[in-house]
Amino acid sequence: MDEAHANSICYCGILVALWTSWSNDNLGRRFFGCQNYGDRRYFHFFAWFDNLMSPRARIVIIGLLKKVKEIERERKKE
Ligand SMILES: [Zn+2]
Repeated sequence: MDEAHANSICYCGILVALWTSWSNDNLGRRFFGCQNYGDRRYFHFFAWFDNLMSPRARIVIIGLLKKVKEIERERKKE
């Protein structure tokens, strides 16, 4: 189990967190990153975290994210 970045501190001084990507190119892929990433005053920590999610979990997450995007599209039509 590689949790090398689990307790890392970002360059801006806060603890990095594990996130799940919502981008089309990396849908469901997890990464360690900083919640202050939008703050351009600092360089922020980022590292992909690929090795723990089971193929089944990835399929379930991708299915859920697609469902959320469908719902968002339908809501925009109203
Ligand atoms: Zn940061």
